[in-house]
Amino acid sequence: MRVLVLLGAPGAGKGTQATILAQRLGLPHVATGDLFRNAVRAGTALGREAHGYMERGELVPDAITIEMLIERLGRPDAAEGVILDGFPRSRAQAEALESALLVRGERVEVALLVDVPAEELVGRLAGRYVCRLGGHPYHVILNPPRVPGICDVDGSPLEQREDDRPEVVRARLTRQLAPLQSVIEFYRARGILRAVDGRQPIDLVSRGLIEALDPVTTA
Ligand SMILES: [Zn+2]
Repeated sequence: MRVLVLLGAPGAGKGTQATILAQRLGLPHVATGDLFRNAVRAGTALGREAHGYMERGELVPDAITIEMLIERLGRPDAAEGVILDGFPRSRAQAEALESALLVRGERVEVALLVDVPAEELVGRLAGRYVCRLGGHPYHVILNPPRVPGICDVDGSPLEQREDDRPEVVRARLTRQLAPLQSVIEFYRARGILRAVDGRQPIDLVSRGLIEALDPVTTA
């Protein structure tokens, strides 16, 4: 089976690419958030255990997440493989995933990185504004209003949420990028990291990711 890991910082467009890759490759897109929600909803033993941690506001331990992932890999739609999105998030998780796969005679085939420089991420994430009256969303680059600072719909002034201010975004990103970097280094050391420039248009990023997989896929 093909186990593909998709890596990218918040704002890099990883989720979009995961959906596109899943379609093109015919592999299920497995995001850990969905994994938790489904297990909790289904009331499985692992789901109940995970729910307990979530209710107490604690992180679900890696061992439980890995068990859920392995269980997910055993479902019929994952027979050909999966695209993992949002996992591993740390070096410890990458190591635990490697061990769990090894027991099954499997391994991560490729770790695909949607690579976007940190300052570009700040620009993307910090460019969001909403209007005061209706909360209509805008983005200075991706979706600018016709008149700067004014809502197209109701003419009310645009303002930035506290969470979207550049200094807040930058601080949050700094915290998030360190563990991501350790995962990137983990796969780079194993010779299976493939990075694609995430500043390109969406379809070019997708093409780059597909080409970064083995020649059999692209042939
Ligand atoms: Zn508005």
